[in-house]
Amino acid sequence: MIEAIVLDWAGTTVDYGSRAPIIAFKNAFAHFGIQLSENTIRQDVGLDKMTHVRKMLQESAISENWETSHPDIPLAQAADKVYAQFQIEIGKVLGETAKLKSGMTELIHFANTHHIQLATTTGYTQAMLDQILPLAADQGYEPRYNITSEQTQKVGRPQPDMLQLAMKKMNITDPSHVIKVGDTINDVLEGRNAGTISVGVVEGGNLIGLSQAAFESLEIQDRDRYQIKAAAILKEAGADEIINNIADLIPLIESINDRQHEMPILLTPGPLTTSKTVKETMLLDHGTWDDDYKELTQWVRRELVTIGNATEANYTAVLMQGSGSFGVEATLGTAIPKQNATLLIAANGAYGERMIEIAEYLDIPHVSLEIPEDQPVSLETVEETLSAHPEISHFAVVHCETTTGILNPIEKLIPAMNERGIVTIVDAMSSFGGIPIDLERLHVDYLVTSSNKCVQGVPGFSVVLAKKATLEQTKGNARSLSLDLYAQYKTFEDHDGKWRFTSPTHVVYAFAQALRELVVEGGVSARTHRYSTNEALLREGMHDLGFEMVINSEVQSPIITSFKYPTDDFDFHAFYEYLKDRGFIIYPGKVSKCDSFRIGNIGEVSPNDISRLLGLIKNYTTDILKMTV
Ligand SMILES: *Cc1c(COP(=O)(O)O)cnc(C)c1O
Repeated sequence: MIEAIVLDWAGTTVDYGSRAPIIAFKNAFAHFGIQLSENTIRQDVGLDKMTHVRKMLQESAISENWETSHPDIPLAQAADKVYAQFQIEIGKVLGETAKLKSGMTELIHFANTHHIQLATTTGYTQAMLDQILPLAADQGYEPRYNITSEQTQKVGRPQPDMLQLAMKKMNITDPSHVIKVGDTINDVLEGRNAGTISVGVVEGGNLIGLSQAAFESLEIQDRDRYQIKAAAILKEAGADEIINNIADLIPLIESINDRQHEMPILLTPGPLTTSKTVKETMLLDHGTWDDDYKELTQWVRRELVTIGNATEANYTAVLMQGSGSFGVEATLGTAIPKQNATLLIAANGAYGERMIEIAEYLDIPHVSLEIPEDQPVSLETVEETLSAHPEISHFAVVHCETTTGILNPIEKLIPAMNERGIVTIVDAMSSFGGIPIDLERLHVDYLVTSSNKCVQGVPGFSVVLAKKATLEQTKGNARSLSLDLYAQYKTFEDHDGKWRFTSPTHVVYAFAQALRELVVEGGVSARTHRYSTNEALLREGMHDLGFEMVINSEVQSPIITSFKYPTDDFDFHAFYEYLKDRGFIIYPGKVSKCDSFRIGNIGEVSPNDISRLLGLIKNYTTDILKMTV
């Protein structure tokens, strides 16, 4: 999905033929009595202008010429002089410099209507750019970010720094979602070095170098000759695609998006959309006895403790084969002693109910505190239940109840239980990695999550983060051999990361990659920020389209959002199929008291994806449902 286009200025978007800097250079040197050919100037176009002047002055013919005609000005100072004159000269041709090339208006319109951000990088200085920007704005061209090498410690093209800074400002992490467009070899290299899709523009570019009038007066075969040559040079430099007119970017972007759409985006509570690099790790096979694999397992376990803001002295991570529920069942089945223990389960949704079901299956003495699905679990109700049941020794609650997307206040609940000496179990399946959780500060005893939720791995195992001192006391508690959390822990500890029974090797490799990508994204807080941005965009966009949320926005998590059916006869299946055909998988509702559906905000999903989804839903509601808002 293309999220941004980063454009060059002269020859690409403005200044047909990139004439202005050439004329200015020519006049600047002529001011000092040196006549330059256009070819000499054009060789290094695209560099920042000072570097370009220096480079030209290094050419022996030019430097000798300078030394004979200006014996009083040492060559070392010549660059400053010529550069100062260049700035004066470019000022004189500013009108030409800033004139938009044909096709730009169409491209700007397309970008605006498709939520594609526009930014620029340039060899111009900030001072020059400041003169051009208002002239471009008058013609409707206002790129959001404009980067010069002054903003990157003077590191200009062909280095990727300016382009990377533009991406950073636009909050884009995946360079394959960015197109860099330019008309020179240095532009192409800049795009390649940053890992973006690098596109070369031929028409009106520097490699042809003619004014529009001069070019159009050529015979058609001569025009072709110029264009073929320019295209070949850009291709040779490594351009991924060559376009003639800048507006040819529009079909190119549509076809890139179509290609990328073959992979559907899952807006679900997990399994969710993972990155390509996470998926790619699974192309190799691995042995479970292998030392590298055991080390990787240990690294994953340590990293998980770190993500939980806990120390290895006090906490450990136990990985358990199977889906998330296997982890919950292993924890409940191992944490609660067979005698003299009672579990309180607070349930305000399907996952809380599932814990009650597990307790019933395993014959664990328990008290169920059932709360309406649209209400959070409050400390007051829990305390009331505790007063009525002094025998309660363990407490289990879901953090983000994925049924609705409601967030339960574990920051209040867990420390209060800990103070009473009650052992706590948090099902943070759908929130861990996506919302910061401070295990150590809250004194959580057990937290359960899985490989296929907010860490953004693929399904295959669950994770139990446990307070070591608590887990150490659970030997012999387990009601199941495979789901014995204590035995699983001991095997990891006593055998340097060896799994008990066959482990999901591919999934572990994918998960390790996902953990690395979580760090690259900026950690849990950066991820929370992205998810929250997705959630806010979705909530507001759906509101504008006339959809009502199931729960109050104050208790809404950034993870997943439930919406009521807009009409009594709403056909969810038809809606689902419509979105699926267009690359989005959403989720049916799970709330019992009203008809609803859910849209997830988690996974490798950007605000841009949410905007596209909203565009589709808008089309669906206006064209198909004929809803008026
Ligand atoms: C996903 C999820 C689970 C686990 O479900 P599985 O289908 O077993 O992976 C448990 N609790 C919550 C809150 C969840 O979101």
